[in-house]
Amino acid sequence: MARRLVIATTNPHKVEEFRGLLAGLPFDLVSLTDVGVTANVEETGKTFAENAIIKAVAYAEATGLPTLADDSGLEIDAMGGAPGVYSARWAGPDVTYAARNRMLVDRLEDLPDERRGARYRCAIAVALPPPRGLLGVVEGTLEGRIAEAPAGHGGFGYDPIFLVPEDGRTVGQMSAEEKSRISHRARAARAARPLLERLASESQESQ
Ligand code: IMP
Repeated sequence: MARRLVIATTNPHKVEEFRGLLAGLPFDLVSLTDVGVTANVEETGKTFAENAIIKAVAYAEATGLPTLADDSGLEIDAMGGAPGVYSARWAGPDVTYAARNRMLVDRLEDLPDERRGARYRCAIAVALPPPRGLLGVVEGTLEGRIAEAPAGHGGFGYDPIFLVPEDGRTVGQMSAEEKSRISHRARAARAARPLLERLASESQESQ
């Protein structure tokens, strides 16, 4: 039987993306909701990697299962790298994705293309319950620009305003497959594969 791997997020979009990105690995992917863990871990880190590690280690302990946690967000050059690790929280708790995107587009209004640079960043950490703890942390990025207006309904979050210049479209205009070829989360997941393959072979030996 495949061993369970907890995807430590309550964001259903992320769980769905990870199902595609980690396909083929011998794990049953389960969410925190699936394993009945509701405790919220505070993201007190100053970097995406620190936050991913905090979540992976804490949820591996809480669930007693191997756990993968990601921390991700948007860095906008003209805003000194903000919202960064505050990407989920900077606009307030109940602001919709659409309203948040509108705020950013308005804030960057009139900026020329060369000053609209931005990147998505994703850190993935994998941990085991104590005493093993953290197994490793990896990162992936996607470079782009903030669009002058939202476009597309695909993906989630900032995708409708995140323009990929080489492609000419926003991530919101891409299909799930297209996003999963280039995204920050896809790149981080690719970098995490060797770690997860090692974990899978360890699990088989101990069965
Ligand atoms: P996290 O759940 O703490 O990692 O917060 C991530 C925040 O960054 C979310 O609010 C998303 O809006 C944004 N974000 C992260 N990844 C993506 C993505 O792939 N597309 C769009 N927005 C993203």
